[in-house]
Amino acid sequence: MNNNCIFCRIIAGEIPAAKLYEDEDMIIIRDINPMAKVHLLLIPKEHYADIIEMTEAQSVTLARCLKKLSTLTDTLGLAEGFRLVSNKGQNGRQSVGHLHIHIIGGEKLSENMA
Ligand code: AMP
Repeated sequence: MNNNCIFCRIIAGEIPAAKLYEDEDMIIIRDINPMAKVHLLLIPKEHYADIIEMTEAQSVTLARCLKKLSTLTDTLGLAEGFRLVSNKGQNGRQSVGHLHIHIIGGEKLSENMA
């Protein structure tokens, strides 16, 4: 755990969040500033900044998280489809330095990915 990391503090229960799912690998919460009708964050519990920092073992855990997500889409309101995004660094406009995947859906999204 990194005490300066807001997502670590949410995972530890120190900061409240709308948590929709939790297991030993990850939490899924509602983004506090939603960009679409459904905007969730899949956050691995282990603290690492991004896929560049990610170890092989962490990549296996992340794959398990994504597979689990595939079983939760109906209950999360994503049955009609969704978009996964992970911002990295300044150009990617990453604002929280703890790897997370944005899960965006609940409506027809823009074709514009940028
Ligand atoms: P990024 O800019 O890709 O690093 O994404 C960080 C996301 O975390 C943003 O979409 C924020 O709205 C979201 N966020 C920041 N603080 C919180 C919080 N306390 N609870 C839920 N989402 C948050």
